[in-house]
Amino acid sequence: KIRVRFAPSPTGFLHIGGLRTALYNYLFARKEQGTFILRIEDTDQSRIVPGAIENLITSLHNLGLDFDEGPGKEGDFGPYIQSQRLNLYQEQAQRLLEKGFAYPCFCSSETLTNMRKEQQEKGEFVKYDRRCLALSQSEIRQKMANGEKYVIRLKMPDKHKFRFYDLIRGEVEMDSSQSDDQVLLKSDGFPTYHLAAVVDDHFMQISHIIRGEEWLSSTPKHIYLYECLGWEPPKWVHLPLILNPDRTKLSKRMNDVSVDSYLLKGYLKEAIINFVALLGWHSADERELFTLDELCEVFSLERVNKANAIFDLAKLDWMNGQYLRLLPLEEIAWRCRHLFLEKGYDISDTKKYHLSIAVARERCTLLNEIVDYCKMFYQPETLTEEEEKILSAPEAQKVLAWFVQKLPTITNWEVDTIQEVINNGISELGIKGKAFYLPLRLALIGKIHGPELHSTFAIIGLEESVKRLKRYLL
Ligand code: GLU
Repeated sequence: KIRVRFAPSPTGFLHIGGLRTALYNYLFARKEQGTFILRIEDTDQSRIVPGAIENLITSLHNLGLDFDEGPGKEGDFGPYIQSQRLNLYQEQAQRLLEKGFAYPCFCSSETLTNMRKEQQEKGEFVKYDRRCLALSQSEIRQKMANGEKYVIRLKMPDKHKFRFYDLIRGEVEMDSSQSDDQVLLKSDGFPTYHLAAVVDDHFMQISHIIRGEEWLSSTPKHIYLYECLGWEPPKWVHLPLILNPDRTKLSKRMNDVSVDSYLLKGYLKEAIINFVALLGWHSADERELFTLDELCEVFSLERVNKANAIFDLAKLDWMNGQYLRLLPLEEIAWRCRHLFLEKGYDISDTKKYHLSIAVARERCTLLNEIVDYCKMFYQPETLTEEEEKILSAPEAQKVLAWFVQKLPTITNWEVDTIQEVINNGISELGIKGKAFYLPLRLALIGKIHGPELHSTFAIIGLEESVKRLKRYLL
């Protein structure tokens, strides 16, 4: 049975890397008819941000990545928030102590800082020097009886090569000399990430651990913990790093990393999901556009890349433009609604609103740009003196006057009939090209360039068009 988890620490907003991990777990679960679990890793209480859990859950939900088990959706393996499972970790830490795989460490943070400093000065590998491992049982008992604070550390094997199989990377080998005697349980009774993750992954019966490559170096510790605890480890899947175009680690410095900030800028969730899906995975046929449902069908871990993924904003923009045009018009209109209302545009005329969106979405990249583009249909621009001068020229006046007269004769206000009238205007007035279009565009939308004239008229509507042209009749 496939059971996978997304295990964020509630330290802020969902970011691009987190979304990629969540998405791959979700897709794998859906593809394999497995279970997708959300687990909150909040054992580092100092890093917790209030509201972050709710935020994460809302973000995942809004993006369509609903979990099968997690906070508020209790399955058989809850609770799904680590701070509510402390006794479980304490029990296992105790077991490790009893088996001799772990030992109490009474060193103060001051002692540890000095130790680190000395090692650094000597150019040594910085790690705990195991001075507490030398304590006798009676010394330990004495210290505990005195109420001295202590942590529990895992005693890593000395000369050991950790080998494990990663579904993406294949055989991985790591040396134990690079591993510190990791703290498992802190003096306040909270576990560290390593103990908590292993205990939970075991008890939650996680079958595959799918996470970012930045966790690869933790895996030997986890494997060793499984061994010490006598448990079968899950399968390991480490996803490639996501890098900025300059190959530095994806960071706030170069790109926004919070998913919310992209939504706020007017990126569509469909585009974000599609784009993030391709950060480390590709389809068999190089196809690039996939809905979430389609991804659920075609996703496979075999096609996850080993090579790092590059975060290419231009590609996200391109994809967003594609989705602006691919999604049903009504859907785009619905999602833009609040943006139009915020600007104070009257969108009660649904036909006009939809026509505006239809024209704008062909020319825009982001939802927010659609509103800016449509301003000309909802709020006539004021002209500069120079532009007004163009309109006051006799020929321009002739064009405006002709339309003010003829437009009301159109009974069926549609693009085709409007185009007919435009054609008639050109031939009757004997004016064409710029001399004909420029005054009309300026008077109508206050700009030299805009959508085709017949669409512009169609969108603005008969009454409003006449009103706008009349403003410049002398
Ligand atoms: N809590 C870790 C994180 O914040 C989870 C790492 C893992 O998946 O094991 O990403």
